[in-house]
Amino acid sequence: MSGSNVNQLEVLAQIGDLDVRLDQISHHVGHLPEREIRAGIEAELQALASEARALDGQIADLERQQRRHEDEVALIEAKRAHNSERLYESHLTSPKEAEALTAEAASLGRRQTEIEDQILDLMEQLEPLGEARAGLGQRQSAAAERIEAVDAAIGEAESEAGRERDEVLGQRATLAAMADPGHVSVYEARRAEARGAPVLGRLIGTTCSACHLEVPSVDYERITRLDPDELAECPQCGALLVR
Ligand SMILES: [Zn+2]
Repeated sequence: MSGSNVNQLEVLAQIGDLDVRLDQISHHVGHLPEREIRAGIEAELQALASEARALDGQIADLERQQRRHEDEVALIEAKRAHNSERLYESHLTSPKEAEALTAEAASLGRRQTEIEDQILDLMEQLEPLGEARAGLGQRQSAAAERIEAVDAAIGEAESEAGRERDEVLGQRATLAAMADPGHVSVYEARRAEARGAPVLGRLIGTTCSACHLEVPSVDYERITRLDPDELAECPQCGALLVR
């Protein structure tokens, strides 16, 4: 398709427009608002997890105390059962021994009540902690669900951008097949060095569209006398001028 019937610089300008479009697609995908939202939820999840760890530690500590007290109560109960057995087997017990056993039974009973009060106290402390932990768990799963939704949105935006990129790349390949390979390589080399600065400009009247400056009349006359397919630079910004 390349030949004198195609305006080579116009083809280059269209390739340039498509490259700008490709940059826009990459920028769009790289700066989706969902990524910031996701980072926010992740920070929230981390805060919730450390809150949960602290709470779990507190709960485990109180539960350990409760188990210790319960074990002690079991021991006391066993001892009390053993004592009353001995007490009722009165033929084996002297009155003095019986008195001692009764006194011990009373003391064990007091001790048991004391520990059972402590257990009740621990259970009272545990109840709100358990509720707080359940609440945290709900907030954690809600945040995880939100991350999933955001990930789905990011995935959708990425595949949409991928489709668009493929389409633009297809158009670009068609144009590149029509373009002067020498022009394309000059353009691509400049574009690689320019890091986003425009390397193509249109001559609109006597003004360069890349730098918006007027091309001095001497240069303007020289450029307009060139072969239409010959590359020319804006004397102000160095952009390749499409005319
Ligand atoms: Zn310029």
